[in-house]
Amino acid sequence: MIFISEERKIRADGRAYNELRPIKIEAGVLERADGSAYVEVGGNKILACVYGPKESYMRRFLRPDTGVIKVRYNMAPFSVDTRKRPGPDRRSNEISKITADALCPALMLEGFPRSMVEVSIEVIAAEGGTRCAGVTAAAVALADAGIPMKDIPAGCAAGKMDDEVVLDLSEIEDKNGQADVPLVIMPRTGEITLLQADGNLTDEEFEEAIELAIEGCMQVSEVQKEALKTCYSQE
Ligand code: UDP
Repeated sequence: MIFISEERKIRADGRAYNELRPIKIEAGVLERADGSAYVEVGGNKILACVYGPKESYMRRFLRPDTGVIKVRYNMAPFSVDTRKRPGPDRRSNEISKITADALCPALMLEGFPRSMVEVSIEVIAAEGGTRCAGVTAAAVALADAGIPMKDIPAGCAAGKMDDEVVLDLSEIEDKNGQADVPLVIMPRTGEITLLQADGNLTDEEFEEAIELAIEGCMQVSEVQKEALKTCYSQE
């Protein structure tokens, strides 16, 4: 356990070092997808949709022994300050891949050989931490689609700003900060399915960031579960 002083300064947006941005999750928001979810984390607005498991048109992805997951993360041109050129780029391809890797260990697709689960993540508004919020949204959408899962992965980043380790970086903190550590965990098993690190951290700060991010993920997980309960209690 790492000692964290309680006398840390309040951040620019009024949050304590270990405080998440306001978070809202809604499951089952789209009629035509098999599963869907809408997530807001601070200024991030993200929709995740799931189709499948279904026979795949992408034959090279198919496996004879299990179903597979394919993720497409997309940032809308109007989601950021400076208009983003539409279509895939290096960043979105990377995030699509790490998101699939972060979700895959939670899925039980052995009963669906030669089929594919297709996940689309649409970032409508971005404000830092979209990859974690995207995984969080996709996990709820997969559960909403009724895909067999052993856990619902939850994502949250920690990072370093003004020489302090803080939870859930905003866009300003992401851009002006010294490090960013996005993390995804399966809350039931404690298995970490995504861990990235960008910037400069000492070993101690890195450990502290991981601990903080895990705490953040556990809070996100509670909101995910509430969203699914609310969705299914309405039916
Ligand atoms: N961003 C941007 N334009 C881009 C890509 C990103 O303005 O083309 C912003 C956006 O707010 C994003 C933040 O920069 O959330 C941080 O991006 P990063 O690549 O670190 O991924 P994220 O933190 O969103 O997972």
